[in-house]
Order: sequence, then structure tokens, then C-alpha cells
Amino acid sequence: MVKQTIQIFARVKPPVRKHQQGIYSIDEDEKLIPSLEIILPRDLADGFVNNKRESYKFKFQRIFDQDANQETIFENIAKPVAGSVLAGYNGTIFAYGQTGSGKTFTITGGAERYSDRGIIPRTLSYIFEQLQKDSSKMYTTHISYLEIYNECGYDLLDPRHEASSLDDLPKVTILEDPDQNIHLKNLTLHQATTEEEALNLLFLGDTNRMIAETPMNQASTRSHCIFTIHLSSKEPGSATVRHAKLHLVDLAGSERVAKTGVGGHLLTEAKYINLSLHYLEQVIIALSEKHRSHIPYRNSMMTSVLRDSLGGNCMTTMIATLSLEKRNLDESISTCRFAQRVALIKNEAVLNEEIDPRLVIKRLQKEIQELKDELAMVTGEQRTEALTEAELFQLEKLITSFLEDQDPESRLEVGADMRKVQHCFHHLKKLLNDKKILGNNTVFSESKDRDCQEPLKEEEYRKLRDILKQRDNEINILVNMLKKEKKKAQEALHLAGMDRCEFRHSQSPPFPPGNPEEGQRMQLSSAPSQAQDFSILGKRSSLLHKKTGMREEMSLGCQEAFEIFKRDHADSVTIDDNKQILKQRFSEAKALGESINEARSKIGHLKEEITQRHIQQVALGISENMAVPLMPDQQEEKLRSQLEEEKRRYKTMFTRLKALKVEIEHLQLLMDKAKVKLQKEFEVWWAEEATNLQVNSPAVNSLDHTKPFLQTSDSQHERSQLLSNKSSGGWEVQGQGTGRFDVCDVNARKILPSPCPSPHSQKQSSTSTPLEDRFGKQLNFQDISSHALCQQE
Ligand code: ADP
Ligand code: MG
Repeated sequence: MVKQTIQIFARVKPPVRKHQQGIYSIDEDEKLIPSLEIILPRDLADGFVNNKRESYKFKFQRIFDQDANQETIFENIAKPVAGSVLAGYNGTIFAYGQTGSGKTFTITGGAERYSDRGIIPRTLSYIFEQLQKDSSKMYTTHISYLEIYNECGYDLLDPRHEASSLDDLPKVTILEDPDQNIHLKNLTLHQATTEEEALNLLFLGDTNRMIAETPMNQASTRSHCIFTIHLSSKEPGSATVRHAKLHLVDLAGSERVAKTGVGGHLLTEAKYINLSLHYLEQVIIALSEKHRSHIPYRNSMMTSVLRDSLGGNCMTTMIATLSLEKRNLDESISTCRFAQRVALIKNEAVLNEEIDPRLVIKRLQKEIQELKDELAMVTGEQRTEALTEAELFQLEKLITSFLEDQDPESRLEVGADMRKVQHCFHHLKKLLNDKKILGNNTVFSESKDRDCQEPLKEEEYRKLRDILKQRDNEINILVNMLKKEKKKAQEALHLAGMDRCEFRHSQSPPFPPGNPEEGQRMQLSSAPSQAQDFSILGKRSSLLHKKTGMREEMSLGCQEAFEIFKRDHADSVTIDDNKQILKQRFSEAKALGESINEARSKIGHLKEEITQRHIQQVALGISENMAVPLMPDQQEEKLRSQLEEEKRRYKTMFTRLKALKVEIEHLQLLMDKAKVKLQKEFEVWWAEEATNLQVNSPAVNSLDHTKPFLQTSDSQHERSQLLSNKSSGGWEVQGQGTGRFDVCDVNARKILPSPCPSPHSQKQSSTSTPLEDRFGKQLNFQDISSHALCQQE
């Protein structure tokens, strides 16, 4: 059992506006416990009652200032927790702070750069890396992703839906068993066997969350998200299974309702926007007070779900995210106060071990069988049915190992089944008889030798023994040579087969783990196949794609509008940047793949040369009747050192390639997410503009098919088609850099030749007012809309 208080860390977000100095200071030296001092500027502190404090000091395990990067946060905060989860303890990391203070950035990561990935993707990467290294246990990993909004739980990993609101997602409810254990009904657990699969799940959940959110209901700031990694481990042959859970929690914004400024009663008595955060605070107050028998966990879903993480069987860590700007000082102080209370809570983490029922059943079955046998013997009951093949085989194996065992005390345990006992006797008798026939001859000749021959002279005897030894050596060498030749022939056959196989099954995992030889055997058999491996990378079969579905058509006007919207959207720069980075990474990966292939064939050649030298030497030794030199010659040593060098190079390149693969995967998922976001924002804008148009233009208003895009009955279907998948090219890197929607545009034009003039040509002649869209682009909505109408007619 590990007793530990909840660890608290602070992370200060870089300010939006620079030059806000003197608001806080970090003291790292104070008896090794760092503290954060928040200083109220004079203008804020002035005017308060005389004894008003002007600065507040809070202690933390560690404080990460603005310049701390995501890697540092992971290494210092998440890695130790992930380590104890791997050892079988439950772990929780939660981020607490006001909206905009960097909770999501810390837990999930930024949406733009690969280096901005947060605790979740880094932890997944670390856990899968460790699992791969540890072959002493068998591990299974499952992922769940829960969102709690307004006391309702939603399963974010539901792949079936096109969720356009949270209510489209399956509702998760809480069940409590008689032992007061919490169970979450309807929350799906998805097995993830690789880091890639787990990442896909994370992005699926995030995308679901983003789609379900509407501007009216900014769920992301008011909901809690709990990403959970469930890890089970078992040693082979053991019946004990260890279960550990790691909750990575992005809490709702902690800001309070009435924000009147620093001081007054606000800092002590505030009303939460989020009721469940209020209950969380109540639980934490109750836990930090000694002698409190009732802890109000049941008041909210979130505290029920996190019950073990708070004052229970879990190693828990809190990250207080702070946006230390002047206008946020009150919220920052209350975040720090909350953290101080959290730090008083003591948890007791225990190893969650459980006996695997299947193995217990097996053991009990064996015991029953033994008891039955014994009973049969005692009651004198005879069992007459013949022993099965498997039983006979098992018995013979037992006899063999019994005979081979040098220990005079060893026993032949066959239980109390008389049939088995009889069979053993029979078998032993047979063995003895066989040996007698063989042995008679030797015994006879040996005794004859002893009786009739003069004892051999010592020297002659030694000479004969030496010759015998030499012949033995020669035979061994020849046998080895034969074996090697045979193996080589087999390998050649196998490799040829593999080449064909790889070509056919291009879906096999592109980067097998392990040492160079392993990788060598399993992949990269030739440059073309390497290139093919990389095209697989591009075709990720993620759940995300299943979800987004294929877009076939979209009204032409809408597409035109989308084109312009996309071009001028701030995110398109990020998408384009990422596209460029992806292109670079792909070509780097391709070049690496080629170098790996080269190194691989070089390794093959060197090995071949070494074998050849061996054969030559042995042949030379035999022909000249000389003993084979024990030391390898200089030439061979040179070859060996070259081989080692080449292997090292191979390994380095292989590791880099693996890292590249993860980065490529991550960037692609980031781009997917950005695309969905762009699409969603476009829809909102489109609907808004359509509504405006209805109000402003009675002519259009009179047509009943001018419903805004989002309000059509098929809108969801249409939208789902819009969120098209990779195969249509687009932002994909394999394509020539054309936007996905460009490709669709072309197709749409082919299918639906427009009877209307293009919006661009109309624009000049149009009498309608151009609308300034919120991205600063002149966009003539009415034109586009009427264009779309023509389409429909
Ligand atoms: P929250 O989830 O607490 O509401 P976010 O994580 O969404 O806040 O952060 C708000 C914005 O600030 C985002 O654009 C995010 O990228 C940025 N941000 C937050 N923390 C950092 C940081 N440590 N470094 C750089 N940017 C950050
Ligand atoms: Mg957030």
C-alpha cells in the first residue's frame, strides 16, 4: 500500500499580452518547497479596507513558469504517475483552472504543432513503449472517454453516430453495487493494442466533443472530460491479474459567476457556474477536515466517478493552471486556494489484484480429478475405460523426465488412477526389455574385452582418445555446415515468400517493433515495398474516418461559399503549415526507408561473407587434416566489426523511423480535427447568413426551400457527407496538395452542371448587398444562396 497526499503542481500560461510584470513571483529556494506569490497591483489593492492583504503566497510541489514546455510537464508530472499505473496502481491527473488557463492544452495538447501534444498522447506513447519492452507479463489496454455535462454522462467514443449535439451520444449512467463500487453503464471500453489505435480513439472522442458543441452551449468550458486508460497485466501461468486505471481529467472552467473584481466577499463566497465543481470543492473540504465521517461523493456524477481518486485507492495529481494576468487575479487566487486544500487529502493506493477465474477453474478441475481417482482406489471401484491418447502421451512424458532426472529422490507422480499406474509399469517394462536386448551385446563384448585382452597401455589409450576427439570435432563441423546450408536455403525460400506476401498484404503493420533482425525479417524487404509501407501510413483506418464518412455531393453554392470561407479562415494557415510539415516528414521517412533497405542488404552481404569464410576455413582444415583455428582471422574480425557498425546504423534509423511514424500519425489526426472544426464553423456561419437573408430579403423569404443549410431535414446527413474521408484526397499529403473540397468541387461540377452563372461573375452585376463575413472576406451570400437555389430547382 502506498500512502500519499494528492500532489499539486502549478502551471502558469504565457500571457496573451506581454509586459505584465510584477504580478507574481516564484520562489524556488525556500526549503526546497517552491512557492508562488501573487501580488496585487496597487490600483487593485487600493480602496480596500486597511488590513487588506496585498500579496498571497501558495506552496506547490513544483511550479512551472510560462516557458515550461509540454515535454517538461510530461516528464515531471505525468511520467511518474504512468509509472505507478504500469506497476498496478490507480492514477489520476486532473487539471483545474479557469477557462482559457490551459487545462486542455496541458491534458490533451495544442491543435497546431506536434510538439504541443499534451499529457494524454505522451502518456499513451510512454505506456505502449514500456509494454513493448516488458515481455515478462501479458498486458491488455482499453480506453474510455467520458464527458460529463450538466450531471449527464456521455460516451465520447461512440463510433455509430453523427453526433450533432451531446444528446446524440449514448448516455452514461452510474450504478453502485452493494460494496459501493461505482460502475458506469453504457460507457464503452475500446481495446487498443497499439499507440496508434489509442491515439485514434483520443481524436475520435475530441472530434465528437467538438461536433456536439454549439455556440449556444459551449460545453467544452462547462463540461468535464475523463479520458481513462485501463491496463490489465498478468504473468504467464499465474492466476493473478492486476488492474490499474489512469484517469486524465480536463475539468470544467472553475470561474465563478459574479466577477466584480478582486477582494470583498468574492474570494471567500462565490457562486460557481458549474455546480459539480462546487460539489467537488465540498468533497475536498470534507476530506481535508479530520473526523468527517460523511463525504458527499454522491452529490454529483463527477465526484462519484472520481471517488477513488479523491481520498481513495489512487495516486492523484492536480495541475492548477493559471492565467496570471491582471484581470484574472481573483480566479488565479481561488485556483491556488483550492489546490492548497487538495494537497491535504491523503490517498491510499493499493495494488488491484484479482484472481483469474479461468485459471482457478482449471486448478479446481485438476483437484477434482485427483480426488475422484483417490476415491476410486479406496472404494476399490475399477475404472475400465481406456486411457485417452492425450493421457497416454502425458504419462510417457512423465516417465521420460522421471528416468532422466538424476535426483535419486525424484518421484513419478501419476495420481491414484490404477489404469495409469498399470500403464506406467507396462511402459517401464517395455523400456527395460528394449534396453536388455541392446545391452546384452555390449555387456557381452565388454566382459569379453575385460577377460580376454591385455589392459591397454595408458599412452596408447590417450592417443586413441585424441584421434577420436578430433574426428568428433570434424563431424560436428561438417554437421553444422550442413545445417547452415540447409537453413540458408530455407531462409532464401522464406524471404522470397515474404516478398510476395508483403506485396499482397500491404495492410500489415508497417513498423514491427524489435531489433534490427526482427524488423529485417518482417519488413522492408525491398525499396518498392518500403514505399508501399508508407502509403499505408497515409491510409489510416481510424474510427474517425468511419465516423466522418464519404461526401458525395453538396449544393454547388454551398461549396463555393465553403471554398472562400476555407481560404480566408485562420485555421487554413495551420492546416497548410501542417501539410507542408507532413510532406517533409513523408519524404524524410521515405529516404530513411531507403537507407534502411540499403543497410539491411549490406548486413545480409556481410553475414554471407562471414559464412563463406567459415566454410572456406573448414574446408581447408579438412583437406589439410588440420585442426580449425579457434581464433577468427583478421579478415573475419574486420567483417564482424563492419557488421556491428551496420547493425547500429540500422537500429538508429529504425528508431527514428518509428518516431517519424508517430509524428505523421499525430499530425494527420490534428489536421482531421482542424478540418472538422472548419466545417462546423462554416455551417454555423452559413446558417446565420441564411437567417439574416430571410429577414432582409422578402423575395427569398417567400420561397419555402430557402431553409438554411443546417435546418434542412437532411442537414445531418449532408453534413456527414461533408466530413468526407481521406480517400478523396484533399488535405492528404499523398495528393498533390489540393484541398479535399477542391476535389469534390470538381466532381460536383461534373455531376451537376450549373444552369446559373458562377457567383464570381454574378458578383459584379448583383444588386444585393455584399455581406462582410466575420473573417473579413467580402462574400455575396445572396448570390451564393440563389446559386444554390438554382441547383435545387
Ligand atoms: P482551457 O482548457 O483551460 O479553457 P486552453 O487549454 O483551451 O484553456 O487554452 C487556451 C488557449 O491558450 C489555447 O489557445 C492554448 O493553445 C493556449 N495555451 C494554454 N496554455 C498554453 C501554454 N502553456 N503555452 C502556450 N499556449 C498555451
Ligand atoms: Mg478546455
